[in-house]
Amino acid sequence: MKQFSDFPRVSLGILPTPLYRLPNISEALGKNIYIKRDDMTGVALGGNKVRKLEFLIADAMAQGCDYMLTTGGAQSNHAMLTAACCDRLGLGSVLVLKKRGVWQKLGNQIINDLLGADVRFVDTDDYADVYAEMEIICGELRAKGHKPYCVPVGGSVPVGSLGYVNAAREAIEQGAALGVRFDDIICCTGSGGTHAGMDLGARIYSPKTRVTGIAVDDENFKPIVRDLVNGTSELLEADVHVEESDINVFENFGAGYAIPSSSGVAAMRMMASKEGIIIDPVYTGKTFAGLIKLNEQGYFDGRDNILFLHSGGAGGLFAIDIDHTED
Ligand SMILES: *Cc1c(COP(=O)(O)O)cnc(C)c1O
Repeated sequence: MKQFSDFPRVSLGILPTPLYRLPNISEALGKNIYIKRDDMTGVALGGNKVRKLEFLIADAMAQGCDYMLTTGGAQSNHAMLTAACCDRLGLGSVLVLKKRGVWQKLGNQIINDLLGADVRFVDTDDYADVYAEMEIICGELRAKGHKPYCVPVGGSVPVGSLGYVNAAREAIEQGAALGVRFDDIICCTGSGGTHAGMDLGARIYSPKTRVTGIAVDDENFKPIVRDLVNGTSELLEADVHVEESDINVFENFGAGYAIPSSSGVAAMRMMASKEGIIIDPVYTGKTFAGLIKLNEQGYFDGRDNILFLHSGGAGGLFAIDIDHTED
């Protein structure tokens, strides 16, 4: 197998992020619940995309690119972090965002303004239109002598998932230092790259650990995550190949992506009031609510040590009305 040091990587995150046991949540749920604080990755408001961008931006730079283009919803944490990381490294960036949801200057749009990000909205529900617009912008940049690098939504390509294979390794080592082997890891599945990296990392570094992604969008994620696991495994020349049936996904998107759910907001209140940790309505709230539901269903029976990945999302929190939930 290759080493992470065999891949181009820029140092952006403040790593390792903390990992520790949540005493009050553990008592409430009757399990040892640990948290991995990837909301504290150290760029802008933190979050999981920093780990992906360490590999994606380095890949772009190794190819001589000087501009990163990416996409997402109007409140995309990934897009905001792409701009923040590019700023730090002196690269250009263009965020081509869907003009859906809260696109006014709230939440991540305030951060994008502070960063001086070049935001272009596309008024569409279809990512095909967004990618077509990205192609046009790439053409314009090339005509000006730039070399753009396009990152798809969420940075969920094998190069990005490398960051989460490494995060899984980091978390498993931190667990071992505490004398704990995690029976389960629960993470968010939004575009699949984080889940895939964690899944592959667990298979490599802690094969008895089961990884389950909580889907926060209405998509058929198993084949997406399977392909990302296998693609990332190939990059690493790891001895892992998975089938769709090997991938664990629990759907908890409620009424749809980025629509707050009552269980998600209840989970946010629980995490805030019991542990002083803020999770968000789009990703981590629904993910933690999924963990609670799985626990109620007996999914963790006979399994005591559960790791919850806090993947960030603070920027969106201030753009979304949590008093209006749909289920
Ligand atoms: C993007 C994102 C996720 C989902 O990660 P994917 O790799 O896209 O599945 C989870 N939490 C937060 C806060 C995110 O911004």
